[in-house]
Amino acid sequence: MITIKELHKSYKMGKNSLHVLKGIDFSVEEGELVAIMGSSGSGKSTLLNILGMLDVADTGTYVLDGVEIKNMNESKAARYRNKFLGFVFQSFNLINYKTALENVALPLYYQRVSRKERYEKSLAYLEKVGLKEWAGHLPSELSGGQKQRVAIARALAAEPKVLLADEPTGALDSKTSYEVMDLIQKINDEGNTILVVTHEPDIADMCTRIVRLKDGVIVEDKKVEQVRASQYV
Ligand code: ADP
Ligand code: MG
Repeated sequence: MITIKELHKSYKMGKNSLHVLKGIDFSVEEGELVAIMGSSGSGKSTLLNILGMLDVADTGTYVLDGVEIKNMNESKAARYRNKFLGFVFQSFNLINYKTALENVALPLYYQRVSRKERYEKSLAYLEKVGLKEWAGHLPSELSGGQKQRVAIARALAAEPKVLLADEPTGALDSKTSYEVMDLIQKINDEGNTILVVTHEPDIADMCTRIVRLKDGVIVEDKKVEQVRASQYV
């Protein structure tokens, strides 16, 4: 699903340059649930943003679902992003003045899905994350865990090939984090490919594989016996 080779990324700041990713090689098969770990500043978000086509590497190759991602203009990149990738962020990134349903429907609007189908699909995805009854509520009326579940429904509604989550439980307490991971595991059980950035070991243990970044390189990459979140919720 994802293959990257010899990926390098530096940030230029004036005449200085910070070399953040120093030759990353890694691939992800369809259906994996991968945790990307590493201390703060180790380049986790940088890597996820490149995989998510929100940023580009300096050198190296990136192949997503058989398509080499390079030299794309912004509109082509945006089209691929909408079609291939779903995002979930620590801070939810919901639109405050739109209801849960409208938030979920937004990517479908950009995909030019008809109004009726947007409504039906969004409601179905809200139901999937257990929030059908909250469809008409604004984000300010939802708990943190509920907001993240709306964000997950929004990411799924566009039926991406890969779901990328950057510290999805970073702003949540333990119990709520496990509820969100329970949902992520269930989505993965259905065959969806998911990458989760986290620095919490208990969250990483709920994935099927753990990749650890340190000083810009992968220092560990192992398959793990997945801890099920459902036992904690
Ligand atoms: P992580 O997500 O693992 O905490 P990041 O990928 O966000 O790490 O950042 C890696 C390093 O790159 C950090 O030192 C950070 O300060 C720096 N960095 C991240 N984004 C930028 C940017 N847009 N411009 C300059 N430096 C950046
Ligand atoms: Mg980060």
